[in-house]
Amino acid sequence: MTPAFSLCVYCGSRTGTATGFADAAVTVGRWIGEHGGQLVYGGGNNGLMGVMANATLAAGGRVVGVIPHALVEKEWAKLDCTELHVVDNMHERKRMMAERADAFLALPGGIGTFEEFFEVWTWRQLGYHDKPVGLLNLDGYYDTLLGFLGSSVQHGFMSDWQMELVRVGTEAPALLETLVNAAATASRRTSLSQI
Ligand code: AMP
Repeated sequence: MTPAFSLCVYCGSRTGTATGFADAAVTVGRWIGEHGGQLVYGGGNNGLMGVMANATLAAGGRVVGVIPHALVEKEWAKLDCTELHVVDNMHERKRMMAERADAFLALPGGIGTFEEFFEVWTWRQLGYHDKPVGLLNLDGYYDTLLGFLGSSVQHGFMSDWQMELVRVGTEAPALLETLVNAAATASRRTSLSQI
């Protein structure tokens, strides 16, 4: 059956120090499954990534994992994904994840999560896709990043319209609903082949 929507989620390959992060990953994963959706993610079984994917599967959702050969052991590729794609390199991983998604969401994570979030945001501002991009600012985790980005606008290196391309939320269900609704009305025009 075709999923109601396909959401690409970027998040930590670790769980972080507070239990609230893993709880939020469960909420996101479960919400996707309970709403008939499909999770697209990096295909790992560790950290928030694994917690979230297990929650989606347990709630009856589809999970598409995309992982480069070189990370299959390091990130414990999740072999029970509905679809697990082992690809040649990181670029192929990110392109496939972007192509298979209707919208993107970043949860708390580390350097890999930051890089992926900034990449789809920059692709959006360049017009490579017009899919909604969200940031879940759980427990103020991203407060300092958002403060810095505001400072960049003040210093004239960024514009308000660029900031407005990202939907920031503090509650997972409300942000998920916003992204899925926005994806339903997006034109789905993409030029991801240009990447
Ligand atoms: P992290 O947020 O650092 O725990 O990483 C989360 C995910 O981002 C992992 O699956 C990493 O493989 C992935 N990732 C994607 N791009 C990069 C990158 N350029 N450097 C490190 N990790 C990356």
